[in-house]
Amino acid sequence: MWNPAHLFMSPIDGTYANRSYGTLYWVLVITQFVYFFSSLLIMFQSLKTVHSLNQRKQLATAVVGIFVLTGFSVTDMLINVLLAPWLPVVPGLMSLGILLSDCCFVLAIYRYGAFDLISMAQRDIFEHMTTGIIVVDESGKVLEMNRGALPFVKSAKGEMFEMEKFLSPLQTQGEVYEFLYQYRHHPLDRLQTEITLPENSRHVSIQISPVLDNHKSLLGRVITFHDVTELRKLVDEMNRKNEALHERNLELVTIQEELFRLNQKLEQMAITDPLTGCYNRRYLMQQLEHELLLNMRYKIPFSVFLFDIDHFKMINDQYGHLVGDEVLRSTADIVRSKLRRTDILARYGGEEFTIYLPHTNREQAESLAARMMIAINENSVTAGADEVHVTISMGIVSEDGEELAFDDPKQYLRELFSRADTALYKAKHEGRNRMILAR
Ligand code: GH3
Ligand code: MG
Ligand code: MG
Repeated sequence: MWNPAHLFMSPIDGTYANRSYGTLYWVLVITQFVYFFSSLLIMFQSLKTVHSLNQRKQLATAVVGIFVLTGFSVTDMLINVLLAPWLPVVPGLMSLGILLSDCCFVLAIYRYGAFDLISMAQRDIFEHMTTGIIVVDESGKVLEMNRGALPFVKSAKGEMFEMEKFLSPLQTQGEVYEFLYQYRHHPLDRLQTEITLPENSRHVSIQISPVLDNHKSLLGRVITFHDVTELRKLVDEMNRKNEALHERNLELVTIQEELFRLNQKLEQMAITDPLTGCYNRRYLMQQLEHELLLNMRYKIPFSVFLFDIDHFKMINDQYGHLVGDEVLRSTADIVRSKLRRTDILARYGGEEFTIYLPHTNREQAESLAARMMIAINENSVTAGADEVHVTISMGIVSEDGEELAFDDPKQYLRELFSRADTALYKAKHEGRNRMILAR
């Protein structure tokens, strides 16, 4: 189409059936030969580096295409140009050559996937992944391996990979022995084991997957080597930390239990008198505030005793404080033995005690007080050769609950104890060892 100044060809006798070829034609012919030889060179180079069967077939098909094209071009040139004066013109040789060679190229592209991006990507991933992979045939010959396999596999492509040899530096006992046995005798099984390489103490996980054909017979095996040293370290570290945490937890539980016990003890100490084991005055007052509200609300009768040991100073003076203490303890014990579980015995002051008796009317209170005084009189504490006896004086307040009415329980309590104290004072005044019922 492009024939400037008849440089490509010029008609002879005014027709292109007979023509002579110009410079441009020969330039194009030479260019085509240059293309031909450089393509051939590139393709032969590629054949050396390409290993997959697929790509070899692809290249071979393309080479055939080049030869077909060249063959037809040369024939065309021979018959229709060089030998044109002697031979008849054969039209369409070049076109046929182009058609056939194009068929070869199309075949090369589509059948063998020149542009198969996925397989290129897979190839790239395979080559660059850190997991070492080798593919061996059924006899163990290495067909394919990636860079990641180089630290583990000394055999090159085409050589034999011997699992026995690979594992020989390891203790072939236990798990490894079992793995080798399975590898030898059960080639169709998927296998997995973890080993520690003796030369660098790296932990390597080895997996073997069989490659089977349609009839389930073995074609080869894919063996992967995965360095799990960091993972193993992390797992070990985590296990250690877990154990430490568990131990710490146990310690904490023990501490918690200890704290709970101590707390209970502290609570108990906070409300009891250490010498006599009675409740202390503060606890009694707290309880009473609540109890009195209940008594008022439900009209429950109750009584309060306030008693003081007679001439206690003399015991201290005569026998010493230790005996005095023992008398206090012993008196408290005797009194406690006469009480119900709901009664509250508290140490009110030095040798003064008080008892709160819920659901106790005046008669019940008087009879209990009388029994209590007798028991105290009969009780004694040994001091050397002597038996120390004591008596008590008592003020009693009894409320039948019917007329109980107050706004401020604290105020009412003050009044209640003031009445008991007055009665106690009266009992002392009237000669001790007696009880007086408050008005
Ligand atoms: P009264 O019959 O009038 O009650 O005479 P009393 O001697 O018992 O009364 P007073 O109040 O004169 O003396 C009480 C004594 O109790 C004085 C104090 O030293 C003694 N006392 C107070 N608390 C304790 C204690 O915990 N242990 C001992 N051993 N003595 C105590
Ligand atoms: Mg006294
Ligand atoms: Mg006193």
